[in-house]
Amino acid sequence: MTPRGWALLTLAGLVVALAVVAVVLVPWNRPPAPRADQLAALRDLPADQVAHARTFRGDLRPGRYLGLAVGLLAALALGLTPLGSRLIDLVGRPFGGHWVAQAVLGGLVVVLVVDLVTLPFAAWRHSVLLRYGLSTNGWGGWTVDLLKSYAVSAVIGAVALLGFYTVVRLAPRWWWAVGAVGAAGLVTLLSFVLPVLVEPVFNRFTPMEPGPLRTELTNMAARDGVPVKDVLVADASRRTKAVNAYVSGLGPTRRIVVYDTLLREATPAEVTSVVAHELGHAKDRDVNVGTLTGALGAAAAVVALYLLGSGGPLPRLAGVDSFADPRAFALLFALVTLAGLVAGPVQAAVSRRVEARADAHAMALTGDPATFEAMQRRLAGINLADPDPPRWEYLWSASHPSTVERMAAARAYARETGR
Ligand SMILES: [Zn+2]
Repeated sequence: MTPRGWALLTLAGLVVALAVVAVVLVPWNRPPAPRADQLAALRDLPADQVAHARTFRGDLRPGRYLGLAVGLLAALALGLTPLGSRLIDLVGRPFGGHWVAQAVLGGLVVVLVVDLVTLPFAAWRHSVLLRYGLSTNGWGGWTVDLLKSYAVSAVIGAVALLGFYTVVRLAPRWWWAVGAVGAAGLVTLLSFVLPVLVEPVFNRFTPMEPGPLRTELTNMAARDGVPVKDVLVADASRRTKAVNAYVSGLGPTRRIVVYDTLLREATPAEVTSVVAHELGHAKDRDVNVGTLTGALGAAAAVVALYLLGSGGPLPRLAGVDSFADPRAFALLFALVTLAGLVAGPVQAAVSRRVEARADAHAMALTGDPATFEAMQRRLAGINLADPDPPRWEYLWSASHPSTVERMAAARAYARETGR
């Protein structure tokens, strides 16, 4: 069998594996609460709060979707015409057209160009957040955060580009097999290592001071069978009013992180409810499942790219012979951008089901659906979330159930358990 034949077989295997993971590990058996219950919950929310949130979301929308469209068009313009390969050629020229310069610097420049054309839309978004008082980060701090995230991406991107094109040169017919394993490995590494490495770049963490809340959170985690080493407070208020908490680390390094904004805005019982939700993610190993899906998806994407690039009209559009040429990176990037756009709604649908399971875990662990509902109302108020967003936007990008879905789920839980 030819390498192409093996690649087709591998792709089919990976797609089947993805389907099996999706069917077996995603909690599809948790449909949202009935629409009538959601509408009842919506009517219980203050009308002015709902209207304010909807105006805010409406003000974000033009920048968001224009930014998406412009970023996509830029990626396609670079990838599906010879523009991108010429740009990479140009970047490599001072280095005698050496493949390392083309692969690493050329690749980073292509990504940077797309980032730069969407930068005005990111700034637009920040100006809206400032106007509504949701961001406490001035333009100076915003710029510093932006440069930090560019730096983090550049380091990861350089390693990935250098690794990828080294393999392509060493194994011109079989790079897709090594690349698939490498991509899966990179996704796994980033998922477990990145949070630990990147968190301190953006936030400072201090242990929560001893007291009833700290004791309650530690005891609850132990009772839940996911003991934590520490409870930390992140100084998120430096840049945002938004509230959050999460559980990070594995086994003996597992810790609860609570935003200082959450401690300031919510009652201790509500903080406990949020942390109980996060413990649900840890207990159900949602990060592991997400990582497995991501690794399989990345491997499948590499093989699919190889198949698209070996023959067919695409490389010719980009003015290159094959994907093995570093100057074809703009084409690769365009295809990955398109794939990301298509995969987004699927990922969101999976995420919503996983989040609903964590919500159910929180209510079972605290036995307190009333506080859970109060917290959802408060979250929506602080984060200016549309409690019942337009259906198309919800399906397109909502990673969590809507506020009215979560409120209705809390009421259903209270009814079923008689609390
Ligand atoms: Zn969650």
